[in-house]
Amino acid sequence: MTKYQILIRQSLSNTTLASKLYARVNIIESGAVTYSNSNTVTLARPHLIPIAVSLLLLIVFLLHGPIGQLDHYHDFADQRSLGGIPHAMDVWSNVGFAIVGTLGLAVCWMGRRQLGARTAGYTIFFAAMLMTAFGSSWYHIAPDNSRLVWDRLPIAVACAGIMSAAWAEFVNSKQARFALPWLLLGACLSVAWWHVTELTGMGDLRPYLWLQALPLITVPLLLWKSPKRPARAGAWTIAILCYVLAKGFELADHAIFDLLHLISGHTFKHLFATLAAWAIYWRLQQLVSTDTSYEPVTQHKLSMISKAH
Ligand SMILES: [Zn+2]
Repeated sequence: MTKYQILIRQSLSNTTLASKLYARVNIIESGAVTYSNSNTVTLARPHLIPIAVSLLLLIVFLLHGPIGQLDHYHDFADQRSLGGIPHAMDVWSNVGFAIVGTLGLAVCWMGRRQLGARTAGYTIFFAAMLMTAFGSSWYHIAPDNSRLVWDRLPIAVACAGIMSAAWAEFVNSKQARFALPWLLLGACLSVAWWHVTELTGMGDLRPYLWLQALPLITVPLLLWKSPKRPARAGAWTIAILCYVLAKGFELADHAIFDLLHLISGHTFKHLFATLAAWAIYWRLQQLVSTDTSYEPVTQHKLSMISKAH
């Protein structure tokens, strides 16, 4: 039995001390430790598998060669105008991004003390949602490659923000804050790479696709490696499911419009991506309203607690 296991066992016999200890290390929610019925604590490394899988996908992309944009990408199913606005449904369905982005930014600002080092990732994510509302509307009014840059850029920035937010929640908030500028740089470069290669006649979406895949790989694996906790898993799980559905709807744009005649797959994509952002907003509210001392536990922190008692 390690000194940490002894410490927890001793602490559990004292209710007050145990509650202090739980509040401090936030055992169940941290994802950095697991707690079993035998009153033992096991330090885990929940981030190694997501990193390995992400690098594996990167290697696959590198070996695959350039991935170009789908033919007729700008030819959306729903071409109807409304109130003088072309492709009205694909334009108006961006309103939700503006609302959730604004509300999220407000909560980030008001809850910055509780969020601490996690503030940056969430702030970037919700700022990107707000920018997506404008960028996507600008693009859908008159879809072409030059306008698509302003649609893809905020989406890439949102991926960087959500990666940082997820890392802060499940692994380490200081690492997440340190990584954020690099993720943002990668996000901008991924869109720039696509745009420049597109101009040369051989567009390559690999960096952009890889960046978009990162949250889809990382968050489920971190959820899987972390102790099960509905309050934690619920919002993130809904967000990932909604985003996966959104990507599916995007691919089925014409098929869904042919079936329903009222709403297209791309409009559904906007709506489900908005729902994913709402789930993250829900999680943010949970953190701000219930969490006053959260920080994923680390070996160093356990050692500090050990010394303190
Ligand atoms: Zn769109």
